[in-house]
Amino acid sequence: MSLHKCLKCGSYTLQETCTKCKEKAVSPAPARFSIEHSKKYGKYRRALMKKMKQEQENK
Ligand SMILES: [Zn+2]
Repeated sequence: MSLHKCLKCGSYTLQETCTKCKEKAVSPAPARFSIEHSKKYGKYRRALMKKMKQEQENK
């Protein structure tokens, strides 16, 4: 069982859903898994995938 943190109100809960506001709660893991970082990484990964795909098509 792991501790989760509500994305909305910041409450800690053992559930994956906040018991207070019913919002999604996530494990406050390393910073690179934060919402902001995952957005940035997702963007970067999509760009990388696109580039890789283009390179494959050029062969
Ligand atoms: Zn909450």
